[in-house]
Amino acid sequence: MNYTHLKKQDPEVWNIIKAEMARQADELEMIASENYVSPAVLEAMATVLTNKYSEGYPGKRYYGGNQIIDNIETLAIKRAKKLFKAEHVNVQPLSGSPANAAVYMAFLKPGDKVLGLKLDHGGHLSHGHPVNFSGMLYNFVQYEVDKKTGKINMEAVKKLAKKEKPQMIVAGYSAYSREIEWNKFRKIADEVGAFLFADIAHTAGLIAAGLLKNPVPICDVVSTTTHKTLRGPRGAIIMCQEKYAKQIDRSVFPGMQGGPHDHITAAKAVAFGEALKPSFKKYAAQIIKNCQTLAAELQKLGYQIVSGGSDNHLIVVNLTNQGLTGREAEQTLEQVGISVNRSTIPNDPNPPMNPSGIRLGTPALTSRGMGISEVKKIVQLINRAIKNRGNKSQLKKIKSQVRSLCKKFPLPGINK
Ligand SMILES: *Cc1c(COP(=O)(O)O)cnc(C)c1O
Repeated sequence: MNYTHLKKQDPEVWNIIKAEMARQADELEMIASENYVSPAVLEAMATVLTNKYSEGYPGKRYYGGNQIIDNIETLAIKRAKKLFKAEHVNVQPLSGSPANAAVYMAFLKPGDKVLGLKLDHGGHLSHGHPVNFSGMLYNFVQYEVDKKTGKINMEAVKKLAKKEKPQMIVAGYSAYSREIEWNKFRKIADEVGAFLFADIAHTAGLIAAGLLKNPVPICDVVSTTTHKTLRGPRGAIIMCQEKYAKQIDRSVFPGMQGGPHDHITAAKAVAFGEALKPSFKKYAAQIIKNCQTLAAELQKLGYQIVSGGSDNHLIVVNLTNQGLTGREAEQTLEQVGISVNRSTIPNDPNPPMNPSGIRLGTPALTSRGMGISEVKKIVQLINRAIKNRGNKSQLKKIKSQVRSLCKKFPLPGINK
């Protein structure tokens, strides 16, 4: 895209966007929930489809002129169904949290009991945290990861479910690096008569590629964002069994939202098309290889990884034995042009604003084309930055090495 009108008409906005383009191109993005979309996804977002109102669903709209829009929504649905082997898909949710709100609204009444993983153990705000709508409207009981292994102990989940008898169990997380035992969750949910809800916001791309187990045929309902490992525009979708289709659709519109964002629906369709290609499977496999290399190389240098490793695209590093907090590590790495986010570790003794860990992920590095040898270099850079924190001249040197590595891997949608 050449942005000619924007440059001429509003240099103030353009200059900010240009600066962010340079930041993204010159820095290493290791925030596990972020990614770079393809140029085709970017182009689909910047289209006149943003001009349209389409409240309702294909063939049943509350506005005229939706003949063409119906085609794009129908195509997005068709591709998502194929990608995840889903019976029913709603592609309208604006983002992950509103999608989850729609799921709860479709299956629960305010005050109903739900089991979700605790935030500082890897769960998401929308899985029952007290400051979030989910924790305010529903009676969430939180399960935890095992103290010794850092993994979810299905026996403990079963015990808690039998004691609490929830209406719903939520699985799928934001900072959990291990495969999830969907079949065991299904069994527990059946035993206590609960709905099983999978939130695969983080791992959807790896699941679509067939590299992690697909919960869609196992669960009652599944939500995912489209902008994390799936490499699509910011947004979400909900998938469910056919028997729940009506209640999910009603819950998204008119329950939660007004009109869908049709330009984003188009970009979702493009991203699903990309994910259906054999090359996406290769890409997703490389994300996991890169992440496992990241974990192993850090461990060699004495860093502790929560749960001892990774089956997916992310790790949580416990920095306690390194003598610095997650915030200090985040700020140090920011100074050398490596973006990461501070993260709690299970049973963190420190507060969430300054927790004991950092979360690292490999989806964005992999989208740039980086592989194992680059990840090994990056681990050295991270370690040197952490060991030399506070040493301005060392950090400056490291920053220039980060930049020269970035220069070799152009950013999709900006430099190529
Ligand atoms: C990212 C995430 C979400 C929320 O997505 P937003 O689009 O930021 O609202 C929901 N659930 C999980 C597990 C996530 O990781």
